[in-house]
Amino acid sequence: MSASTETPQSQLIQELVQYGDFLQLSRNQPTYFDIPLTFTLTNGTQVDIAAPGIISFTPLGFGDKDIVLSSGIHGNETAPIEMCEHYVRDIFRGELIVAHRLLFLFGNLPAMNKGSRFIEENLNRLFSGAHSQDVPEHAVNSERLRAKELEQAVADFYTCLPSQPSRQRLHYDLHTAIKPSKNDKFAVYPFRHGRPWNKQQLQFLLACGINTILLSGSATTTFSYYSSNQFSAEAFTVELGKVMPFGQNDMRQFAAADTMLRRLLSGQDLQLKPYEAGDFLIYQVNQVINKLADNFKLAFGDDEPNFSTFKQGDLLATEGDREYRCQQDGEAIVFPNANVALGQRAILTVIPTTI
Ligand SMILES: [Zn+2]
Repeated sequence: MSASTETPQSQLIQELVQYGDFLQLSRNQPTYFDIPLTFTLTNGTQVDIAAPGIISFTPLGFGDKDIVLSSGIHGNETAPIEMCEHYVRDIFRGELIVAHRLLFLFGNLPAMNKGSRFIEENLNRLFSGAHSQDVPEHAVNSERLRAKELEQAVADFYTCLPSQPSRQRLHYDLHTAIKPSKNDKFAVYPFRHGRPWNKQQLQFLLACGINTILLSGSATTTFSYYSSNQFSAEAFTVELGKVMPFGQNDMRQFAAADTMLRRLLSGQDLQLKPYEAGDFLIYQVNQVINKLADNFKLAFGDDEPNFSTFKQGDLLATEGDREYRCQQDGEAIVFPNANVALGQRAILTVIPTTI
């Protein structure tokens, strides 16, 4: 950058380097990033901004991990958005020196501005091409366009280097749950089509404060499954706590995850403890209960926490005359939500398992 070339672009770069407020600019002035932007920080790290909310960093002599951190796929899940916003700011200011290639994705910018989960459709049901499936009433909306754009960003990031077995692809899709959870923090491990579950990844999650892992049993249209399935990334949907408005998160609750993510990004020793099965609560999916009619009703209170357990035969939900019941003792509910669109999942039930 030199002072003699004061174009709007160089002013924008100066502002970013000085204040690091990439997310705020993406939310409030998205047209600033209509044209992709590439520049270099004084420490040699290359910055590539592909679109509003999509930014990658490539340090000189980068390490062997290609790391994707996504947040705000649901616009009101603010704590991880604030964490990632902080990392970006610290990288711009030279306070966080990254050691690996790193892509930040701030998912649903209009929903963040509205303080809502989504505008028209749940963005985390639109990946692996679901954004382009022919549903006339949703032919195009902002979530479908965004899902496509985010998929492309991940594809570009992972494939711009030749694939080498020594490189590790990681994707942590960071969320917070709508409901409280008996197990406050948990992660969904996307279906691996027979690839073994990676215990070292579970050790990392444990160090982040996450001891509860839900093994997905089938292909899905979530963001983490997309990265896992298309690019063999170690990918997870990570639920870090409960939804709160921007600025109202108790960041102490996220201290362990914050410490571990900063270690990961900056290439420090992760100091993981050895894997012990007893450290984890691992579940597999037992029932996927989809809402088929408008009279779908949960049989338990709205405030029933995630991972609450039931006894065999307990009623979980009704839909007119149809009844959905617990199939075995110890079966637990996750993500109950009667307000989903018809045909979508209203309850997932899980049972303990081991890997
Ligand atoms: Zn979410």
